[in-house]
Amino acid sequence: MPELPEVETIRRDLLEKLKSALLREVVVLEPKYLSKRSIKKEDLINLRGAKLKDILRRGKQLAFLLGESALIFHLGLTGSLIFKENKEFETFHSENLKHLILLLLFDNGTLLFKDLRKFGHLLLIPANSLKSHWENTLGPDALSVSKSSFEAILRRGKGQIKKFFLNQKNIAGLGNIYIDELLFRAKINPERKVESLSLDEIERLYVEMQDLLKEAIFLRGSSIRDYVDGTGTPGLFQTKHLVYGKRGRPCPICGTLLEYKNLYGRGTTFCPICQT
Ligand SMILES: [Zn+2]
Repeated sequence: MPELPEVETIRRDLLEKLKSALLREVVVLEPKYLSKRSIKKEDLINLRGAKLKDILRRGKQLAFLLGESALIFHLGLTGSLIFKENKEFETFHSENLKHLILLLLFDNGTLLFKDLRKFGHLLLIPANSLKSHWENTLGPDALSVSKSSFEAILRRGKGQIKKFFLNQKNIAGLGNIYIDELLFRAKINPERKVESLSLDEIERLYVEMQDLLKEAIFLRGSSIRDYVDGTGTPGLFQTKHLVYGKRGRPCPICGTLLEYKNLYGRGTTFCPICQT
């Protein structure tokens, strides 16, 4: 699933291509996908003629500000948003049109929204209610949260730390990959209770989280299954993973074999010695 670094990479790619572009046409290829998410096809079609003012992100969600509306994408497990310039799109192979949900045709190119497994979400709301919508449904963004807010949220937090970070209402943006990587870097066992963390450990988590996310964005995200960026290219950060997907291999610090547990239905890899 695309997590914060992947979604931020997509946001930057698309904003570079689409800032101030004019939306000429909306083509809905999977009407059922929309109706299941309570979106009226006409409302999407009515976005025609709007200019793309900005693309904002909170956690793993992207909001396209089109005229007075905000079109919010959550890519789920397999969603992708890829921009094709007009000449590229004309020669696009029909094979690549599989699993397409939506095409947004701008004056300078086409944005394709695909979702193979259809776990993504789509929401259309007035742009002026975006801020409150996000504040009511998501915690602060993991990349932009201040150190003091982060500390306050963890101070109030309860339960096992892996579950705490999986809940997007606490801190938004981390998923299975980056939580495992973060907890390893911060030397915290995934089953530790949030209420047992010392102030030093909370500070370590904050610093490691910032470093991890920035490094991952710099390398344009992690391509595990089928993540591609806004131009259709895989990321590189998976080559820097220390524990995620490495069960049974030696810990890069102490050499002990990495352990694997299923926590809350999510595979979790960690070092039983380094992470306490
Ligand atoms: Zn170790």
